Amino acid sequence: MASAAPIILWFREDLRLADNPALSWAAGTGRLVICLYIRETGSGAPRAHGGASNWWLDKSLKALGDSLEALGGRLVLRTGEAGEVIRGIARESGADAVVWNRRYGQPERDADAALKDRLKALGLDCRSFNGRLLVEPWELKTGAGGWYRVFTPFWKALQANYSCPAYLPPPKRLETVKVQSEELGGWGLHPTRPDWSSGLAESWTPGEAGAAARLDAFLDGPVDGYSSNRNRPDLADSTSALSPHLRFGEISPVTIWRRTTALAEAGRINEASARVFLSEIAWREFSYTLLYFNPDLATENYNPSFDAMPWQKNADALRAWQRGMTGYPIVDAGMRQLWHTGWMHNRVRMIVASFLTKHLLLPWQAGEAWFWDTLVDADPASNPASWQWTAGSGADAAPYFRVFNPITQGQKFDETGEYVRRWCPELAKVPLKFLHAPFEADGATLARAGVDLGVTYPKPIIDHSTGRERALGAYQSLKEKQASS
Ligand code: FAD
Repeated sequence: MASAAPIILWFREDLRLADNPALSWAAGTGRLVICLYIRETGSGAPRAHGGASNWWLDKSLKALGDSLEALGGRLVLRTGEAGEVIRGIARESGADAVVWNRRYGQPERDADAALKDRLKALGLDCRSFNGRLLVEPWELKTGAGGWYRVFTPFWKALQANYSCPAYLPPPKRLETVKVQSEELGGWGLHPTRPDWSSGLAESWTPGEAGAAARLDAFLDGPVDGYSSNRNRPDLADSTSALSPHLRFGEISPVTIWRRTTALAEAGRINEASARVFLSEIAWREFSYTLLYFNPDLATENYNPSFDAMPWQKNADALRAWQRGMTGYPIVDAGMRQLWHTGWMHNRVRMIVASFLTKHLLLPWQAGEAWFWDTLVDADPASNPASWQWTAGSGADAAPYFRVFNPITQGQKFDETGEYVRRWCPELAKVPLKFLHAPFEADGATLARAGVDLGVTYPKPIIDHSTGRERALGAYQSLKEKQASS
């Protein structure tokens, strides 16, 4: 006879009801479901969220809890070592099955495997699903049977092999048993003293409904211009801004793939732009492959020859970069957008990351850590993979000699100047010709624009050519060391 005992559904990085394989399986049994989120402690816990992500998590859990209540269920919140929490709830409730969607960091994988063994030994049924990726890291293999280290063949293989599963609708009802829960407010995820989150609140609607609205809005127009506009931070909606929703699993990449391809096949959106958009989703997948096969991606150079890189130590320069006070407007605009909204446009992320690791010759780990704390989409795979890509130490990385020129990058991609004017308002009146290099303007022009360099806006903390030459010299020294070793 089928069991009538409750099932524990452990929500992790999948804070949604639709296209959620673990939830769909649990609800499909018709049994009572205990929906659980654990604030994990112990060695198997994932990398602790930074401040901006904690802000997001707070709102996302609230939204998920509300959605579950509307179905007759409830989100149970607990703190502790996951295995202990789950065994405790199973004892209290008589649950005899536990389900979750998989994660890909090494500590979480090890902890999950150990937990599965422990639960099975106690007689509990334990199942896990793919609820986070299109393809799991071990699924796509090169001709030689290995994993892809280069993006383009990975993307080709993904397109050739991926077939999108059928839609998994949210359950219509979700009955549960009463189990004690902690209070979300007691977790202190929302910042206080000071509460710096007003810019985040203005910019985002965390939760599954917010994610769905973003996707709808993007597919209803902006996607058509994606291939030509996606590098333009000065244009509204040039990208989807789905990243924090994906990070917290409020939307599945499967949903995005299915909706986008269906619209493209029906001729309702531009096919070429849709492909480019999906190729960016594939960069996220590729990053997860890198994390899976390189568990130390956030701390260790993927390319070990970078261990000999002569990185500088310069707390003042790091602080100027973090605060958006480098004297290069496109860099400063990006860092201030990040501070205010918890997000930064991809093109600008590349520019600020290049500036930190090349012009300032500061270690990519310092930038990765700052982004981890301040991004609402701070992702354990995409953040380190992208930092290493920019620094040159990563897989399929930007070549070491590509040192972005922050002046010409600004002129090219913030062509209207709207982006810099918005985030560096003290430069708003500088004519476009000098907006991306105010230090090249004559005194009268600056005076007319109300800019007093070094007073109202910083002078460049490093001269572009000097920084560029020093970076090239450092990379050259690496190559020489490599050649002689
Ligand atoms: P869109 O252009 O609309 O793309 C759709 C989705 O594809 C994104 O939401 C994201 O999930 C994925 N995606 C797009 N570009 C990339 C990329 N290069 N690598 C991986 N996935 C991508 N992205 C994160 O999600 N979290 C991070 O912590 C993160 N850190 C980054 C750090 C640096 C230094 C750089 C250069 C990039 C980083 N990215 C990160 C990648 C990228 O900048 C963001 O995913 C993108 O800007 C999010 O905006 P969007 O949702 O509008 O993207």
